[in-house]
Amino acid sequence: MVNTVSMSEMSKDDYQRRVVDQGGVVLLPVGAVEQHGYHLPLGTDWLLSDYMAREAAVRLNGVVAPPIMYASRSQIRTGGGPHQCGTVSLDGQTLIGLVKEVIKELARHGAQKIAVIDSHFENRFFLDESCYQAIRELKLAGIDNVKIVKMQFAEGLTDETRAKAYEGIPFAGRHLEHGGFYETALMLHAYPHLVTMASIPEEDLPQFPPYDVFPEQPDWVPESGNLSSGKLATAARGKLMMDEMLEALVDALRQEFPDISP
Ligand SMILES: [Zn+2]
Repeated sequence: MVNTVSMSEMSKDDYQRRVVDQGGVVLLPVGAVEQHGYHLPLGTDWLLSDYMAREAAVRLNGVVAPPIMYASRSQIRTGGGPHQCGTVSLDGQTLIGLVKEVIKELARHGAQKIAVIDSHFENRFFLDESCYQAIRELKLAGIDNVKIVKMQFAEGLTDETRAKAYEGIPFAGRHLEHGGFYETALMLHAYPHLVTMASIPEEDLPQFPPYDVFPEQPDWVPESGNLSSGKLATAARGKLMMDEMLEALVDALRQEFPDISP
């Protein structure tokens, strides 16, 4: 038996014991492969989801399924847009089907507690649809004992902690946080070796109109692809936010799956 929370590193009997015999929660991290400026890696979103899922799984004796790295399209006004080099997105229907099928496969082998952990704003409604369809199709197949908790972990951050973390730093609004202070601080805490702070340029905040245009307008977005600045981010501020979001995630899963082993 290997001491790990990662499904990929477990043998089939380790996995079966944790998930089927002990009724453990299976956490499915979802993110994106998306540019995050010059200073953050393309995998920022899925790396953060995976980090949160692993930390939560340690506390809950859960199992982390291999992450869904590719995901929904980057939007100009929330992610810098699909034209950016290195951004690789799926069509919405592909993402819906992919996540639905993974959930159904987990359930087919006896997982009853499933948590979808998301960090990429644009995934939101597609993942809702995956969960609706998975539950519906499982019921039709006679499996009606599955419950899914879906959380964008950023929702666990309270205004109070956000204010503390952003003390002395302008908050542009959640929709402009792409590659900005929030993600930079979290990455400095979780993956400091992947962040190059010196690469953050001086740029003005984008001024978006209250609508979208297709095909997208690349000149709406600052050259870096960041929608606000991460220059003042620190690992300590990232830890402050991440600790609270992690606690909220763990609390949510304990609340919804009360018989989870301690
Ligand atoms: Zn991101």
